[in-house]
Amino acid sequence: MPLVVQKFGGTSVADPERIREVADHVARTRRRGDAVVVVVSAMGKETDELIRLANEVSPQPPGREMDMLITAGERKATALLCMALHAVGIPADSFTGSQAGFITDSNHTNAKILELRPDRLRQALAEGRTPVVGGAQGVSEGNVTFLGRGGSDTTAVALAHALDAHSCELYTDVSGVFTADPRLVPAAQRMQSVSFEEMLEMTASGCPKPAMRSVEFARTWGVRLHVRSAFTWEPGTWVQEEDPSMEQAIVSAVVHDTSEAKVTVSGVPDRPGIAARLFRLLADRDVNVDMIVQNVSDHGVTDISFTLPREHLATGEATTAEWAAEVGATAVTTDAAIARVSLVGAGMKSNPGVAAQTFETLADNGINIEMISTSAIRISCIVRQGQVEQAVQALHAAFALG
Ligand code: ASP
Ligand code: MG
Repeated sequence: MPLVVQKFGGTSVADPERIREVADHVARTRRRGDAVVVVVSAMGKETDELIRLANEVSPQPPGREMDMLITAGERKATALLCMALHAVGIPADSFTGSQAGFITDSNHTNAKILELRPDRLRQALAEGRTPVVGGAQGVSEGNVTFLGRGGSDTTAVALAHALDAHSCELYTDVSGVFTADPRLVPAAQRMQSVSFEEMLEMTASGCPKPAMRSVEFARTWGVRLHVRSAFTWEPGTWVQEEDPSMEQAIVSAVVHDTSEAKVTVSGVPDRPGIAARLFRLLADRDVNVDMIVQNVSDHGVTDISFTLPREHLATGEATTAEWAAEVGATAVTTDAAIARVSLVGAGMKSNPGVAAQTFETLADNGINIEMISTSAIRISCIVRQGQVEQAVQALHAAFALG
């Protein structure tokens, strides 16, 4: 029997009515003749709420307890959904990550999957039952582990691969992947399909869904993803291998990210090893550096700017200041009012002129570019945060994505 994995995000199962709707949809899929493995997230904003509770009782909650707490959210959702499935005549069994066979490392709050042994799910499927698995969880040496925020997408992709499902459906509160954020650009279009490579660049550049780690797994294992709505149930966006017979769009989407900040150091002595030392210190403190720009050196000194997630800014600034004192750089400044706007498109690699048109469009709109970075299929510019909306709209129009 063909098998599909259906994953439902928090908003899709936020209350009893939504859970009943999801159960109806799973029942429809079953009656159409597909076997289904369901993965659920915690209801609504429950994960945020559990993390808030933890921080109220302890300044530094132990990782093991944190994982025990957070995974309770998904566990509750699995049992409720199974009850709703029984009520519509679909025999279903709930499984924790551990019961479903997710063996992870013991890196609490952000565990990695080491091995997947979904024997009990196979058995349930063989008996014609529908397994409902708690997302984002596993077990390490008898301890419950959490795969990290957004980890339910990864659970779903891993199961689709291990059980050889024909596809992995990620149900959410938007109807797919769009050519730009529809809240900023009313003319944004839902994409029918997008390649793994493009999707990865998009998630790395600010597109919030699907979770980046799950797209990486999907690409590695060749699992086709279908991102779609649990509210309208209409067909959404396929994320899959690019079709070599189809002409690739030069630009497929404009994405933006307002979650980063910038650190600039001036008067940096231009000697081998100086930059290496800074970025080693930052890495050792888990500061996730994104774009890096170093100026041409003038009289033996240079400037270095880099971007980082705004939540890492305090640590990043302190680390950079320590290093600046050590190497004799003159000043460290920070800027939290930046935004990144990126164009992504698989056809970019074989078409010149995208950079020129991007910069011209921004210039025509009086938008100054502060930093630039590129990959083979992406161009990103750092601009003032107050101008990002205009930048996204102008680029979306200039590349006729509407
Ligand atoms: N509920 C968890 C979170 O919000 C896991 C998930 O939804 O993927 O991060
Ligand atoms: Mg969630």
